[in-house]
Amino acid sequence: MPIYEFICIDCQKCFDKLCSLKDDLSQIKCEFCSSRNIKKKMSAFATSRDENDHDSHSGSSCSSCSSGSCSTCGH
Ligand SMILES: [Zn+2]
Repeated sequence: MPIYEFICIDCQKCFDKLCSLKDDLSQIKCEFCSSRNIKKKMSAFATSRDENDHDSHSGSSCSSCSSGSCSTCGH
C-alpha cells in the first residue's frame, strides 16, 4: 500500500498515512488537530516543482490578463 504524505492546512503539520487505493482520502483527518482541512502532498518523484515555479512566475508577471497564457495581451 502506498504511503501518502499530507499537510494540514490548519496547523501546518505534515504526517504520513498508509492508505489503500480504496480509502477515501477526504475522510482522513489531521493526526494533530483532527482537522479535515488537509492537502495531499505530491511524492518526491513529482517533477512539477519547476513547472509550478514557472506557472506562478508567468502568472504573476502579467496582471492585465487572467488567462495565464498571455496570448492576448502580448506579455
Ligand atoms: Zn492539523
